[in-house]
Amino acid sequence: MKICIACGMPMNKKEDYAMGDESKNYCKYCMREDGTMQSYEEKLKGMTEFIVRTQGIDRNVANKTARKMMDKLPAWEDLK
Ligand SMILES: [Zn+2]
Repeated sequence: MKICIACGMPMNKKEDYAMGDESKNYCKYCMREDGTMQSYEEKLKGMTEFIVRTQGIDRNVANKTARKMMDKLPAWEDLK
């Protein structure tokens, strides 16, 4: 089992991987339509929207929360 480098989700099943490809290090939620990994900005936007939707908190707060979560993940280490 691997953990998605872009969002931290554990990938337990083959279907959890991008394109169902277990050699990939990111999950299906972090890929674009064409199977490549989303950029930091794309993922940040997606995560912010997810937090707003699931927790119903203010967009600015959600954005900060998403940033904090992403700061811990290896995919974005180079951006620090
Ligand atoms: Zn992911």
